[in-house]
Amino acid sequence: MRGVGDEDQEPIGQVDALAVPRFARPDTFARLPTLEQVGRAAVAMLGVPFDSGVVYRPGARFGPAAIRAGSKLLRPYNAWTGTLPFNSRQVADAGDVACTPFSIEQAIGEIERTATATYQRATHLVALGGDHTIALPLLRAAAAQFGPLALLHFDAHLDTWDTYFGGARYTHGTPFRRAAEEGLLDLTRAVHVGTRGPQFSDDDLAADARLGFHLVDGRAIDERGAAAVAAEVRERVGEAAVYLSFDIDLLDPAFAPGTGTPEAGGWSSREAITVLRGLKGIRLIGGDVVEVAPAYDHAEITAIAAAHVVYELLGLLALGPAARS
Ligand code: MN
Ligand code: MN
Repeated sequence: MRGVGDEDQEPIGQVDALAVPRFARPDTFARLPTLEQVGRAAVAMLGVPFDSGVVYRPGARFGPAAIRAGSKLLRPYNAWTGTLPFNSRQVADAGDVACTPFSIEQAIGEIERTATATYQRATHLVALGGDHTIALPLLRAAAAQFGPLALLHFDAHLDTWDTYFGGARYTHGTPFRRAAEEGLLDLTRAVHVGTRGPQFSDDDLAADARLGFHLVDGRAIDERGAAAVAAEVRERVGEAAVYLSFDIDLLDPAFAPGTGTPEAGGWSSREAITVLRGLKGIRLIGGDVVEVAPAYDHAEITAIAAAHVVYELLGLLALGPAARS
């Protein structure tokens, strides 16, 4: 094991795909080393296999394993952004949080504590979910490191509803309402992207706006195009430290069938990746990719899309504050 404080060493990259086939060995994200192997990393990938907060299809507890399996073909150089997401600084897989499936509040505490402990060994975290409930404890841990955060939230849904089923406050439909109440967000720099589908009432969008969130709804990609969407998002988050939370149901069910609350009329994988690449220049500090439920997936469509979203996040981190000078 490498010692803490050995940041000057060359990063350990992926297992050599020309020496060990990609379908061999235990899974880590993109076949990167474990955090235990490297001791300390600029970016740690943290699996959060929790799905007890869902209102419809369960199964995102198997998301971290599916995203890792879907990441095996990722190569070191992103020619389209000019980045080396795995090699410009140390990236490592921190394994999965051991969180209970029986109590949402207990699991939230376990996720927050594990994320906080992981920040002792990594500057930035990217989480692999898990349902969207996990964003709340991850935001708590991130805000403790970086202060109130700009939120860049890609999702078919607002996830700022108040309660479900007569008072349940901690669910996958409520994390950003709770985060706003807890002061974890800079609401002048919070934005939902890709929102679509039916709401509960004609007040849902207005209630979200009253909390302070800005909305770039799902139609914007057709009306204004990916470059304009990315520009609007960059303008909204400005120079602030950004937490990027990506619910895979932002994508159309054709591009992400393996998810818990699918909504027709979503973006393609290409559109989402194009918008993410258009975010070059934001000060990303970390994030999550959530709601991958592989039991409803086919041919790893959803898991591969999620792995590529993570790849783009790592590219943005490689361009941002995690870059080595
Ligand atoms: Mn969500
Ligand atoms: Mn959603």
